[in-house]
Amino acid sequence: MTYPILHIRKGKEQSLMRRHPWVFSGAIESSTESLKDGDLVCLMTRKDQFLGIGHYQHATISVRILSFDYEEIDQAFFDRKIKKAVDSRLNIGLLSKQNTIFRVCHGEGDELPGLVIDFYNGVAVIQCHSIGMYFSVEMIANALKNAFGKKLTAIYSKSTDTLPKRTDVTDAYLFGSCETPHVALENGVKYNIDWITGQKTGFFIDQRVNRRILGEYSKGKKVLNTFCYSGGFSLQALNHGATLVHSLDSSKKAIALTDDNISLNNYTEKHLSICADAMDYMKDLKEDYDIIVLDPPAFAKHREKRHQAIQGYKRLNAHAIRQIKPGGIIFTFSCSQVIDKALFTNTIIAAAIESGRNVRILEQIHQPADHPIHAFHPEGEYLKGLIIQVD
Ligand code: SAH
Repeated sequence: MTYPILHIRKGKEQSLMRRHPWVFSGAIESSTESLKDGDLVCLMTRKDQFLGIGHYQHATISVRILSFDYEEIDQAFFDRKIKKAVDSRLNIGLLSKQNTIFRVCHGEGDELPGLVIDFYNGVAVIQCHSIGMYFSVEMIANALKNAFGKKLTAIYSKSTDTLPKRTDVTDAYLFGSCETPHVALENGVKYNIDWITGQKTGFFIDQRVNRRILGEYSKGKKVLNTFCYSGGFSLQALNHGATLVHSLDSSKKAIALTDDNISLNNYTEKHLSICADAMDYMKDLKEDYDIIVLDPPAFAKHREKRHQAIQGYKRLNAHAIRQIKPGGIIFTFSCSQVIDKALFTNTIIAAAIESGRNVRILEQIHQPADHPIHAFHPEGEYLKGLIIQVD
């Protein structure tokens, strides 16, 4: 192996020895001037003890570790890693007659930092969060073909949204092609997926299990689904017998996606879309709802924004708690990584106190099995939710 060697400052090697996959710029002792974004590097202690191999990038997180073993990062490496990720999804039945949407690879959770791959009924969509992963995309595509075999009909690479702008990054099919929108199934419900024009890879897969749980609560109920994007929660509620669902989003495009998905499943008569700002709309609800879903985008993308974000979550939840029907249920979420479970729960408790109503936590919910949290990378935990009942 001929990867350039980077020495780690004394005292900064501890997290690597605990197999945490990130190296911050301040931990590197060697000069990095000659390195290019995406280069593979070999990390060593000052005493030349091997630590790991990873992708270099001129950024706060300078190296993302691919392997803590002294090994070549080649096609065989990606074959092994991707097959392990694919098998772990297939083994728990995520590809079935009822479900053809799941995440194949969840970055650090699958020991492939910087790499996200989602599967939509035969089509894999690759999204890279590091230049190094992007430069490996051909090997990743080959590995996907090897692991999925005939189950895979196309591979689309979409990284222009997630990488710094550069001329050598483009979005394209790497294998086959597929017309969009493409219909795929989640929990027995049909969804139109468009990875080319949609947010992220086209769908928020991380709410699959929570949508199914919402279904269990929805029979005979009137539901408000705020921050609905493509109507994921709305359709699960309707599919489980909700009498009426209102879906709200501030984006016209999201509302159009929701309407298309509602028609695709023939639920137009029981559904109404509302294009509005959720914070404004929640101040004064026009209906009595049995169930309200609050699934906002991350209010805090950075630690500095945490305080402001907490105020936002508190206000939003207080509006819902104050106005929901007696006995009503609220599904409330935060996908801000910097707000942990305890802080989120305390924020909801503060909202309950402010609203002056009696609130009980029925269930604590989170990200599903295809979005695993690696034990040595606790930062991978980001999605948390509470199901609360208001007396
Ligand atoms: N619950 C969705 C995912 C939510 S993503 C699902 O299950 O797929 C967050 C959504 O919030 C986006 O669609 C975005 O358009 C919308 N959004 C962002 N700010 C908003 C606001 N102030 N009011 C209403 N919707 C908003």
